[in-house]
Amino acid sequence: MTQKSVIIIGAGLAGLSTGCYAQMNGYRSHVFEHHSVPGGVAACWQRGEYLIDGGIHFLMSHKPESAIYDLYHELGIIRDGHFPDLTDYGRFVDETSGRDVTITGNLDRLAADLKAIDPADAGLIDDLVAGARAMQGADMGAMGMSKPPELAGRLDTLKQLWGMRRYFRFFVGKYNQPLSEYAQAAHDPWLRTLVENLFLPEVPAWFAFMLLALLADGQMGLLADGSLAFARSIERRYLELGGQVTYKATVEEILVDAERDKAVGVRLADGATAPAEHRADVVVSAADGRSTIFKLLGGRYVDDEISKRYETWGLIRPTVMVNYGVARAFAGEPHLTTLKLARPFPVGQQAIEVLMVRIFNYGERFAPPGKTVVQVTFETAWDYWHDLREKDRPGYKAEKARVAAEVLERLEAHWPGLSAQVEETDVATPVTTWRYTLNDRGAYMGWLPTPQTIMTAIPRTLPGLANFYMAGQWVLPGGGVPPSLYSGQHVVQILCKRDGQQFVTSVP
Ligand SMILES: Cc1cc2nc3c(=O)[nH]c(=O)nc-3n(C[C@H](O)[C@H](O)[C@H](O)COP(=O)(O)OP(=O)(O)OC[C@H]3O[C@@H](n4cnc5c(N)ncnc54)[C@H](O)[C@@H]3O)c2cc1C
Repeated sequence: MTQKSVIIIGAGLAGLSTGCYAQMNGYRSHVFEHHSVPGGVAACWQRGEYLIDGGIHFLMSHKPESAIYDLYHELGIIRDGHFPDLTDYGRFVDETSGRDVTITGNLDRLAADLKAIDPADAGLIDDLVAGARAMQGADMGAMGMSKPPELAGRLDTLKQLWGMRRYFRFFVGKYNQPLSEYAQAAHDPWLRTLVENLFLPEVPAWFAFMLLALLADGQMGLLADGSLAFARSIERRYLELGGQVTYKATVEEILVDAERDKAVGVRLADGATAPAEHRADVVVSAADGRSTIFKLLGGRYVDDEISKRYETWGLIRPTVMVNYGVARAFAGEPHLTTLKLARPFPVGQQAIEVLMVRIFNYGERFAPPGKTVVQVTFETAWDYWHDLREKDRPGYKAEKARVAAEVLERLEAHWPGLSAQVEETDVATPVTTWRYTLNDRGAYMGWLPTPQTIMTAIPRTLPGLANFYMAGQWVLPGGGVPPSLYSGQHVVQILCKRDGQQFVTSVP
C-alpha cells in the first residue's frame, strides 16, 4: 500500500470521512480545522446546564439493510451512537384557524388526517401518499452515491438507471417540479403551506415523497446524543485509524506548484496553533466551496461551469436559531412543531410567519432531568445580520435579545408559563454560523436543492489542478449527512484509482 500524504481542510463530517477512508487505504492524513471541535455545521455548544444542538435533525437509514448503514458502520457511527426511531415527522399548527395535524409515518392515518383538513384536497393527498408508498424500500440516500462523477462510466450510469427503474417516473415531469408548485394544487391555503414546508419549498416534490417513505419505513432516527457526539464518533474512528487532526487551524492558502499546476500543501492563517506551512502529496478541501475555489486557490482553477454555478445558484437560506434552556419537562410533546403564526413579527425587511420549534426531550444529554432545551428556527436574510453586526455591535446584540423576546411571546401561547421557566437564552444568527464554519453567507447546507441543482453531478476535482480534490456539501447540492460522508469516500476512491490500488473499507 501507498504511504502518500494527504492534507484535509475541515473537520466537518465530509473532512472526517475523507480522513477515515484515506487511512483505511494506507494514506497518511492530517486534518486542519478552523474551529476548536469537529463537526462543522453539525454543532453543539454548552449554555449553563444545557447542551444546545444546532445541527442535524434526523439520520436517514440508521438501520441495517441499506448501503448507508454500512457507511455509518465503517465510520464508527453505529458503534457509538443512539438513534431512536422517529415515528412522527412533526406537528403542523395553523394559529389563525386553530387547526393542527401530525405528519406521521403511518401513511393510512396520514392520508385520513390530511384529507380531514379539506376533503376537496383528497386527490392531492392520495397522490402524495401514493408517491411515498412507491418510494418505500428504496435505498434513496445511497442512490447515485456509489461512485463520484470522475469514476462513473457508462455501465455505472446504466446500472444506476436500472436500480432506479421503479422510481424513475418521479424524477421527471410533475414530480420533479418544486414542492411549492406541486402544492399549488391544494385547495386549502394552510394545506398548501403545510405541503410546501414538508421540507424546503424549492426541493422537487419527489424529495418529500422520499422523506415520507423513510419515515414510513422506520428509517429516520433522532440523534439522542446530539450532533457533536455524532461527529466525535467519526473523529474517534479517524484517530484510531492513525489520522491526525489539528483544531484552531484555519487554512489561508492552498499552496500550488505553479509550474506544474499541482497542489502541494497549505498555509495556515496567523495565530494558528501549528507551523504556518504544511506540505503533502495531495490536498483535499472539505470546506466552504466559494472560499476554497476563489480565496484559498485565488480563482485560478475555474471553468465556465464553475463560474456560472457560483454566480447564479442560490444558497440555502440561513436561519436565526433561538435556544431556551427551560426548567420544565416536555414529556410526550412532539420533537418538532411548525407554527404558522397568526401574528408575524418583523426582522429586518422580512415578516417572520413560520417558526420551527424543536423540543429536545428525546435524549438525556441535552438537559438535567426535568429540564429541556427548546429551539426555534426561522429563515432570515444574511445581509441584515451581517451588516448590523459590522456597523453596530450593540445594536446587533439588542436585536438578538428582541428576537428572543418576540419568539418567547409566541411560544407562551402554546406552552403557558414557559417564559417564567426559561433559565438560559442563546441566539445564533447566520453570522454565528459563518464565524464557526466559514460557510458562505451562513448557508448551513450549501446549495439550495432545486430540481436542477440536486441532480447536478459536480466533479470532486478542479480543471487544470492536479493533486487536489473537494469533498462535502459544496460538491453535493443540498448537503445532508449521507452525501457529505459519501463525498469523502469518493475522493479516496479517485485517489486509489489514480494510484493503481484497490479501494478498501473496514469496520471498527
Ligand atoms: C440545523 C441543521 C440541521 C440539519 N439537519 C440535517 C438532517 O436532519 N439530516 C441530514 O442528513 N443533514 C442535516 N443537516 C445537514 C448536514 O449536517 C450537513 O450537510 C453536513 O454536516 C455538512 O458537512 P460538511 O463536512 O460538508 O460541511 P461543514 O459542516 O460546513 O464542514 C466544513 C468544515 O470546514 C471547516 N473550514 C472551513 N473553512 C476552513 C479553513 N479555511 N480552514 C480550516 N477549516 C475550515 C469548517 O470550520 C467546518 O468544520 C443539517 C444541518 C444543520 C445546520
